[in-house]
Amino acid sequence: MITPTELIDYLKQEGVPAYRSRQILQGVYKEGARTFDEIETLPKDLRDKLQAELSILSFEVLKEVTSPNGETVKALFKMSDGALVEGVLMRFRDGRNSVCVSSQVGCGLKCSFCATGTMGFKRNLTSEEIADQVLYFDQYLKRTTGATAKDPDQSGKRVDHVIFMGMGEPFLNYEAVMSSVRTMNNPDCLGIASRSITLSTSGIVPSIKKLMDDPLQVNLAVSIHAPTQELRKSFMPIANAYSLDELIATLKDYIKKTHRRVSYEYVMLRDINDSPTCARQLAELIRGQRCHVNLIPYNETYLGFSNAGKSRIDAFREIVESYDIPVTVRVSLGQDISAACGQLAVEEEEGKGSANAKLMAE
Ligand code: SF4
Repeated sequence: MITPTELIDYLKQEGVPAYRSRQILQGVYKEGARTFDEIETLPKDLRDKLQAELSILSFEVLKEVTSPNGETVKALFKMSDGALVEGVLMRFRDGRNSVCVSSQVGCGLKCSFCATGTMGFKRNLTSEEIADQVLYFDQYLKRTTGATAKDPDQSGKRVDHVIFMGMGEPFLNYEAVMSSVRTMNNPDCLGIASRSITLSTSGIVPSIKKLMDDPLQVNLAVSIHAPTQELRKSFMPIANAYSLDELIATLKDYIKKTHRRVSYEYVMLRDINDSPTCARQLAELIRGQRCHVNLIPYNETYLGFSNAGKSRIDAFREIVESYDIPVTVRVSLGQDISAACGQLAVEEEEGKGSANAKLMAE
C-alpha cells in the first residue's frame, strides 16, 4: 500500500476529498480489507477507481508455509518484477506476534553462513514492499483469529513486533527502510510501537551514524558474530569495509548519544566462533556498554556450517554473563520450514521448492 503521504497526493491529484484517505487507511489497516471494494464507507465509483489504479499489497503471495504447530508462518512474496523475497511471522507463546521482514532482494554482503548471501544483490525493496510484508501478516492474523477493528483487546491478534532480519542489509537501503518504519509506526496504519521495531545491521557504520540523529526510538541490533577483526573478516566480508574497531567506536557513540541499548547478535557456529576464548574476547570487547548479547542457534543449511549445540551455547552464555552482560538465547522457531534467512527464496529460485510448502489457495 502506498504511504499515507502518497495516498493524500494521489487523492488530491484525482480531485477526491482528503478525508477519504482516513477511510481508506481505516479500511485497509484496521478492518483488514483485502480489496478496495470491501471498504464500504467509500462510494462505489471511488472503490472501482482505486481497485483499477492502486493495489493494497504491492506483491503476490507465491507460497505460504506453516510449521506443524502453527507457531511460524513463512511466506514467499513475488514482486511485480518477478523478484522473490520472504517474510516470516513468529507467534510466540507469550502472545507476541513478530514479523521478520526483508529489505532487499538478495544481499551483496556474502556472509559465508547465510543462504541469502549466495543469491547476490538484486535490488533494494521499496518502502511499500517492505511495509506490505507486515501488512500481509497483520491481515493473516485478523483472518485466522477472527479479529475485528472493534475488538477491545487486540493482543495476540495483530502484529506487534517487527525485526529487520530477513533478506538483505537494511542499512544499505536506509531511506526506504526508515520510510517503511514510519508506516509501521503510524497510528493510522499499523500502529506498531517504535520500541517494538528492531533494525538489524551487519555493521554499516555511516547508517548507524544516521540513525543516531533520527528521532524514531527504534531498537538497533548489530550482527557482530565474532570477537576479533581477523575472525570476523574470515566469514563476514563487510568487516573489510568497516573494521571491528570502527564499528565498536561508532556503537559507543550511538549509545552515548541516544541512551539506547544495543543488541549484539551472535550466531553460534560450531568450532568457528563458539569457544570459551571467543566468549571471553567478546565480553572484553563490549563490557561496560549499555547492551545485551543475543546468541543465535544456527539453522543448518547446505552451506557446511554446523550448529554449536546446546551445551556449547550454555557454556558461552555463562562466560559472557560472568562479565555482567545480559545474554539471551534466541528461541528458534520454524526449523522444519526452511527457517534460515533466505532459504525459501533460494530453494524456489533453484527449483527445489520445500516439500511441505503449500501453494496459496487464495
Ligand atoms: S547475514 Fe545478512 S548481511 Fe550477511 S549475507 Fe545474509 S542477509 Fe546479507
